[in-house]
Amino acid sequence: MNEEQEKQYEIIKDHLKIIRHGEIIAYLSPNWALKQNLNIEDLDKIVLLHNKLYDLFDEIELCEEKHLFSIYAKKVQEIEFELQDAWKFERDATKHIWWYQIPHCECNTIDNQELWGIDQIIVNKNCPIHGNLCNDSTAI
Ligand SMILES: [Zn+2]
Repeated sequence: MNEEQEKQYEIIKDHLKIIRHGEIIAYLSPNWALKQNLNIEDLDKIVLLHNKLYDLFDEIELCEEKHLFSIYAKKVQEIEFELQDAWKFERDATKHIWWYQIPHCECNTIDNQELWGIDQIIVNKNCPIHGNLCNDSTAI
């Protein structure tokens, strides 16, 4: 970090924490925050979106109504796009990382991680969340 970045880091460092139920569960990357020239407002927005995502995951975890699962998958995708906006990245579905982490999802995490940035996903046809995408060529 150069001097300017160090100054900026001092300003933003308290806005990088993701807190759930009173505990810090993750930190946003300070390097990316500096690289993308994000201010406190941008970071607070990103933290808020993560909380929205985790709240949604909690809701999905408890949900037994399978007909709602594809709606939840769409909601998660929308949050992933909003996160890309908030990070000031281009919207790009090939760089989404949350869809295969949705509770009840049975798609292969490692395979899909490896396809990051590539216009391809691997869907398990038995996945309760994404199985219906098997005949659908649109990537989620
Ligand atoms: Zn899945």
